[in-house]
Amino acid sequence: MAENLNLFTSTQKVIKHSLNKLGFGEEMYELLKEPIRMLTVRIPVKMDDGSVKVFTGYRAQHNDSVGPTKGGVRYHPDVTEEEVKAMSLWMTIKCGIVNLPYGGGKGGIVCDPRTMSMGEIERLSREYVRAISQIVGPTKDIPAPDVYTNSQIMAWMMDEYSRLRENDSPGFITGKPIVLGGSQGREKATAQGVTICIEEAAKKRGIDLKDARIVIQGFGNAGSFLSKFLYDAGAKIVGISDAYGALHDPDGLDIDYLLDRRDSFGTVTTLFENTITNKELFELDCDIIVPAAVSNQITGENAPNIKASIVVEAANGPTTDEATKILTERGILLVPDVLASAGGVTVSYFEWVQNNQGYYWPEEEVNTKLTAKLVDAFNNVYNLSQSRRVNMRLAAYMLGLRNVAEASRFRGWV
Ligand code: GLU
Repeated sequence: MAENLNLFTSTQKVIKHSLNKLGFGEEMYELLKEPIRMLTVRIPVKMDDGSVKVFTGYRAQHNDSVGPTKGGVRYHPDVTEEEVKAMSLWMTIKCGIVNLPYGGGKGGIVCDPRTMSMGEIERLSREYVRAISQIVGPTKDIPAPDVYTNSQIMAWMMDEYSRLRENDSPGFITGKPIVLGGSQGREKATAQGVTICIEEAAKKRGIDLKDARIVIQGFGNAGSFLSKFLYDAGAKIVGISDAYGALHDPDGLDIDYLLDRRDSFGTVTTLFENTITNKELFELDCDIIVPAAVSNQITGENAPNIKASIVVEAANGPTTDEATKILTERGILLVPDVLASAGGVTVSYFEWVQNNQGYYWPEEEVNTKLTAKLVDAFNNVYNLSQSRRVNMRLAAYMLGLRNVAEASRFRGWV
């Protein structure tokens, strides 16, 4: 039978299983299996050549029982309604694991910003905010960056929202430039969270990061900062890739050299001739693999050939159900996306808190708070997985759903 690569249905399966383990019944599953709200918008944009192009955008809000919904906006040609829905479910779980007063939300626009001018991206971003403005806001639903969106796009969106509401609304969106109320440390936060999870996982497996050989798939925001943190910590990055291919050196790649040459979308391999494929990358001899690119990368086909003893998911949904099963059976420690990639939304929460109080923290304070939350979250998930004899993904979902299910019950919804 062909492998199920549908992120939404496989997420629903894990949700059902974890609610069951937590002792919640069918009605709770009925509430949590889908977003409570899903808006689809069509956005006309004047292109630089004078033509009008109509883009499709989405905003999904999974559950707002513990607080406003929260999550990024993705700009990518492969964005689909199903994917946005699945990612809003994951955001609820991420926020639950790190104990943030948010439910999950997610947005996306079907577009390819790599082929658009800055002016076109600005007009698209502003129109998107106008189109979804009724359902978002600092106490309703708070967007943030995701794949191919950045602090400049957040700035345009914040400006558009503030103009619509006719008041200054920095807490409407996170991941902003520092001068507009962004938080110190937000840009590096996802990679920092992944690094903390790698350190904790390595301790559990008795691996010293200084001697570790690490493969990273992806050289975007998460992958690039992550490779730098690990390289500076003395680890050998033996493989790294972008959307076009991968580079490999068993003695460790020169990460500073590659970082200097990557473009703003994370492309670097096109500058080299002796590249390997993304498929070969996963089968390299190494201790730790970090998929930090797109979904469905570790599958039933390549999972049996993975040589690493730890896989840390920095991307959203990089491992299929079947691959999760195979890795677990092979005794590989799989740190799931909903835990490993929670650093971004954690510092987004700190940004929102600082916006609300109008008082800003230095970077060390942000980092100390982030480390405390992530170390706790990792160990809570790890200990639950040991005590309940379940894999780390199921344990993470159990921890992540507990708050939202209990809050929904206290509110009398279920
Ligand atoms: N897009 C990021 C994520 O998937 C960050 C979300 C946020 O900061 O709200 O976790």
